Amino acid sequence: MSRAPAPAKTFNASVPGADDLIRLHLSESPHGASEAALRAAERELGRVNVYPDPERHELVHALAEHWNVTPDHIAVANGSDELVLATALALGDPTRPGLVTDGTFPGYRACLELTRRGCTAVALDGTAVDTDAFAARLPGHGIGYLCNPHNPSGAALTREELTALVDACGRGGVPLVCDEAYMEFAAPDTPQVRDLLDGGAPVVALRTFSKAYGLAALRVGYAVGPPALIAELRRALRALPFSVNRLAQAAAVSTLGDRDFLAGVRRSTDERRRWFTGELDRRGRGHLPSVTNFVAVEARDCALAQDRLAADFGILVRNAGLFGFPGYLRTSLGTQENLVRFLDALEKIEENP
Ligand code: PMP
Repeated sequence: MSRAPAPAKTFNASVPGADDLIRLHLSESPHGASEAALRAAERELGRVNVYPDPERHELVHALAEHWNVTPDHIAVANGSDELVLATALALGDPTRPGLVTDGTFPGYRACLELTRRGCTAVALDGTAVDTDAFAARLPGHGIGYLCNPHNPSGAALTREELTALVDACGRGGVPLVCDEAYMEFAAPDTPQVRDLLDGGAPVVALRTFSKAYGLAALRVGYAVGPPALIAELRRALRALPFSVNRLAQAAAVSTLGDRDFLAGVRRSTDERRRWFTGELDRRGRGHLPSVTNFVAVEARDCALAQDRLAADFGILVRNAGLFGFPGYLRTSLGTQENLVRFLDALEKIEENP
């Protein structure tokens, strides 16, 4: 069976016919979106001739209530991708390079390069972010980017690590962007920027409606941080005043009000993560511990496996080696049926490379 051209040497999220394949490559939610969010988006279809609110007023206020902060702590954008770019454009000393880690979400480097700031990368400590080295190198840089929980390992920072990083950015006055795209999946007591906002350090959390809320196609993300930084970010975002469309704004407001939906997604993701990691152990396949909706799974020749899974089995996963984690394939916690198909196919490929 030969279905799709493989996403070969570099990862390209655009695979022809990908909607019909088993999609485990982009950490999408198998739960879809909340009914309330879908109804809200549908209502907006009757107003597609009307521009969206450039200030995203209703959503900003709903998020402020959700986070228990004033609205000037919140900036809303077209996915957290747009916020990675806006932070690179607007925050910190633009004459100094940004600081990132090796083995992380490639968007930080891409945006720092696009904005001509450039970047330096701190080496990983095995598969973990070396927070001591990152904190030590932050002074002298214009801005820092970290992903917590980390993509592609799925690990969360400890309280001590996060506090030390935020202290370092406070001392040096260097803005730190903590990308928390997957934080909704982690246990509520997982250390996160929310706990440290009162300290006054220039730290910004990025969140998205694409993952746990299942609204990836609508493109909504937001930043939470000190009002001075958020004002700078909003200034950059105003260059594209209508980038968050009406359907997206309405659906995001509604899903925030549907707490049962999020709780259900969390519960089900926890259950599948427990089942999947147990299944990996049973099959003797290594993996990294994850608090998110994806797991980094050991595989022998990941480039070959990624290609053959796509071409021969119609299964899309991500070769984490392409972003700094050689020896691992990253799979979303899709349905149990699709995860079994993935593991069976991987075994076949490894038996007969
Ligand atoms: N940050 C991380 C770590 C991600 O993995 C992703 C998407 N895969 C994003 C940001 C962007 O998410 P979105 O633009 O859909 O909000």
